[in-house]
Amino acid sequence: MNPVRQIAFGYSTQCNIRCGHCVAADASPETAKMDFGRARDIIQEMAHCHVTGISFTAGEPLLFFDDICKLVQLCRENGIYSRIVTNGYWAKTREHTDRIVSELMSNGLSQLRLSYSRWHQQYISRENIVHAALSSQKHGLDYFVSFITDFSKKDDSFEKFLRDHHLKFFPEPVIYFGRAGEFDRQRVSTDYRPNVCSMNPYLSPELDMFACCDGASRFSKTHFLYLGNLCNNSIEALFQKCETHALYHLIRTMGLTNMASYLGFRAREIVQYRRCELCEKLFNSKENLSILTKSATSDLINWRR
Ligand code: SF4
Ligand code: SF4
Repeated sequence: MNPVRQIAFGYSTQCNIRCGHCVAADASPETAKMDFGRARDIIQEMAHCHVTGISFTAGEPLLFFDDICKLVQLCRENGIYSRIVTNGYWAKTREHTDRIVSELMSNGLSQLRLSYSRWHQQYISRENIVHAALSSQKHGLDYFVSFITDFSKKDDSFEKFLRDHHLKFFPEPVIYFGRAGEFDRQRVSTDYRPNVCSMNPYLSPELDMFACCDGASRFSKTHFLYLGNLCNNSIEALFQKCETHALYHLIRTMGLTNMASYLGFRAREIVQYRRCELCEKLFNSKENLSILTKSATSDLINWRR
C-alpha cells in the first residue's frame, strides 16, 4: 500500500503584509519564487509519486492568483486534494470576494484556509475573514479559519469575533520560530503528553524539501529536518528519505517526550516545553542528535519512562 503523502508547497515567500509572529519570515528581506513551469512539472511528478494533498502556503499564495489557479487546476486533473492558506487580503468587499471564491472553485480548489490572529489583523480587516468565510459557505467551498494564538487574554476579543460570526475555526499555537523567536513567552506546564508529530513535509521556492513545514530551515546547527534539493534528487527519493528515516519515524510514533526522557531530561523540564521547542532542544544539538541517531534502532525504541 502506498504511504499517505501530503506536502506544503511554497510557491513564493513573498507576502503583502508583515505579521509580527511570522514563522515563514527569515532575517533576510529577500523573497523567492518558484518558476511556474517547474512548479507544474513538480506537481505532475508528485502525482506520479502518489501525493494526495498539496497545501499552497509560505508567503501569500494569492498574490500570484493566475498561477495558483492553474496549479490548483492541475491538482484537480491529477486527483490531488488542494488547499490554499491565505491572509484574506483580497476579500475587501462581498462582491469581489464572491468572484475570487467562485474562480477558485471553478479551478477545483478543495479547501480555503484563512489565517487570522491579532498579528494578521493589524494589516487585514477582520471583515475580510468574514467575507471569505461567508462566500465559501455560499459557494460550497470547504473552509476554516486558522486562529493563531499565544493563548493570552489579548486574544479573547479575537476569538469572540469568530464565535459571534459563527465561523468555523480552530486555535493553533504560535510557533516560536521566525519573527516569533524573539517573543517573550509565558511559561507553560502541560501534562506529560507524548508530543507526537505527524511531520508534514514542505517544499520551498528554491526547491529545498524539508521533513516538516513548521521547523523547516530553523534547525541551523544540524539541518536535521533538511531532506535535499530537487535539482539533484527526485521527489520520490526525498519522500522515501522522509518516510524511512529512523528518527522521523520515532517522532511520528514514540513522540518527543520519550526521546527527551531517554536523553535524561527531567520530567519537570519536559512539561515546560512546547512541542516544537522540545523538538529543537533534541535535534538542533549535535550532541543530542548523535546519541539519538546511534540508539534509534536499538535502546531508544525500547525506552519507556
Ligand atoms: S504569517 Fe502569513 S500572512 Fe503573515 S507575514 Fe507571514 S506569510 Fe504573510
Ligand atoms: S515538532 Fe518538530 S517536526 Fe514537528 S512541526 Fe515541530 S519542529 Fe517540525
